[in-house]
Order: sequence, then structure tokens, then C-alpha cells
Amino acid sequence: MRWREAIARFMVGRYGSDAFSRAMSVVAMVFLLLSWFVLPQVFYTLALILIVYSTFRMFSRNHQKRYKENLFYTKQVDKVKYFINKLKYRSSQSKTHHIYSCPQCKQKIRVPKGKGKIMIRCPKCQTEFMKKS
Ligand SMILES: [Zn+2]
Repeated sequence: MRWREAIARFMVGRYGSDAFSRAMSVVAMVFLLLSWFVLPQVFYTLALILIVYSTFRMFSRNHQKRYKENLFYTKQVDKVKYFINKLKYRSSQSKTHHIYSCPQCKQKIRVPKGKGKIMIRCPKCQTEFMKKS
């Protein structure tokens, strides 16, 4: 029990774990696994760096800086998620629709497929252009 108290006292005021350090631990594990198969020195070193850095963050007392790092990380993750969702949406749309860009203003225009050659009017700048749908 004394150990637990000592650890609890040691952790007071320290940053602890967040999404960023959890992600780093996962990546470190992946690198360790990879190091068994390819480029052992490279992946082992990278894994070690990640483990040391995420441990340093956990014990850090500079909450503001760690919080900002985590915020930066979650923003990047959101960007990737947004991008993946966009790709998913595009591929689900591509079965029934074509997406064309207006030659004038680059506005994206969604047109149903299989209607032959059609005249498309851009809703933004009213430019008309011919496309096969
Ligand atoms: Zn346009």
C-alpha cells in the first residue's frame, strides 16, 4: 500500500496520459512489432523515442504545453477523419452521380449518371458547359 501512496504522491500535479500519448504508445507497439521483420534498428529506435517522449509527457508539469500538443494532435486526427469521410462520400456518390468542376469558378457540381450528353449550368456563376453524364 505504501508503494501506491508513493506513486500517487509522485503523480500529483503531473500531466498524465491523454489521446496523444495513447496514440504514441500504440504506434510504438506497432514499430516494435515491425522491428522484428524489417529494419530492426530503425523501428526499435523510433519505438524507443516514442516511449521515452510519451513517458516524459505523462510526468510533465507543464500542463499548458502538453495540452496544446494534444490539441494539435486531435486537430490532425480530425483532418484525416474529415478527408476519409469525404473520400467515402465521393465513392458512394460515384455509383449514381458524376462530380464536375465548373470551368469558370471551379465550383463542384453533382450530376446524375446515365443521362447522355447534357448541358450543365453552374449554380454559382451561371456558366453553361456540356458534359457526358
Ligand atoms: Zn461556376
